[in-house]
Amino acid sequence: MQLRLACIPGDGVGPEVIAAALPVIRDAAALHGAQLDVLEVDWGGERHLRTGAPMPADAADIVRQHDAVLFGAVGRPDVPDHELVWGLIIALRQQLDLAVNLRPVRSWDGVPSVVTSAPGTDLLIVRENTEGEYSGAGGRAHRASGAELAVEVAIHSRHAIERAARYAFDQASRRRGRLALVTKSNAMRHGYTLWDEVVADVAEDFPAVEWQPVLVDAMAARMVQRPTELDVLLCSNLFGDILADLAAVLAGGLGMAPSANVSPQATPGLFEPIHGSAPDIAGQGIANPVACLLSGAMMLDHSGLPAAGDSIRDAIATALLDPSIHTPDLGGTGTTEGVATAVRAALNRERNTR
Ligand code: ATP
Repeated sequence: MQLRLACIPGDGVGPEVIAAALPVIRDAAALHGAQLDVLEVDWGGERHLRTGAPMPADAADIVRQHDAVLFGAVGRPDVPDHELVWGLIIALRQQLDLAVNLRPVRSWDGVPSVVTSAPGTDLLIVRENTEGEYSGAGGRAHRASGAELAVEVAIHSRHAIERAARYAFDQASRRRGRLALVTKSNAMRHGYTLWDEVVADVAEDFPAVEWQPVLVDAMAARMVQRPTELDVLLCSNLFGDILADLAAVLAGGLGMAPSANVSPQATPGLFEPIHGSAPDIAGQGIANPVACLLSGAMMLDHSGLPAAGDSIRDAIATALLDPSIHTPDLGGTGTTEGVATAVRAALNRERNTR
């Protein structure tokens, strides 16, 4: 089996974590009979400075010729964040109609979290990925008048809510059968009441899943106090974005949290660590590559190679038991390369025992 992968290392620590993760992903695929055919593209901030656009106009067509996309990070201090985020990652999500963003978070033996209730956490955030507060609708007026104003419009459609909800309920039925709808319909009485209604309709098709609406502020507290009770969290674009960073802290930090942007249709998925380009540590060789490795594992899961995804996750679990390889974000003195080498060694031990 041949897996055609488009790879966008991007900016900052993006190229560092991708360079560390790709050989491991390649080994895991090979262990399960698949070859990776990788096209690496230069999309990102440096291209934006050179050409005026972070990716070419036909980027979505290029991606569609592949089975999946592995993305590092985008963002550099000399380009406004919103230009690169909108010019690349949100643009790809919208153009490819990557309706759902999956953000699994689990705790790992041997990896400390500043949250004492974190051990035993295993949750999945399912985030609507194309609209909500990130629809891009709105504008600015009266720029030169001294009384400038901005309007940012949130869009919530039955269609988008329903497809995210179906995905989330399906995931819950394959996991521990519990789902929380993260909402704010007490204060935002148009969009989020529609969420409440659509999700209640979808829930009727999944009678085995126990579900409840939870206000986003209460969910933030619950995530810290009793995270092990959480299974699937169904979120709008904004709430999912914020809660995923909070959830990542349960796993040890942003360097530990992967994500998948997927479409219920046959479009190639886009897999990326949830962290950004981390300019404060870029170039030092100390970025934690685990989020990127886990994103690669999700890419293999979604490409019909879940056993290869499991091999990566098992190898990470083994490697992380040794605190001497932990990168500084986990409180250690290890390096990006050191983590990747340890994970690769654990993977190769699996190959030798087969
Ligand atoms: P974005 O808005 O794109 O998510 P950001 O600027 O808010 O990006 P990050 O770039 O993710 O945030 O960085 C936030 C903090 O997390 C920084 O201190 C950074 O060093 C740290 N961080 C992010 N990714 C990693 C990683 N892979 N390993 C170690 N630390 C990381």
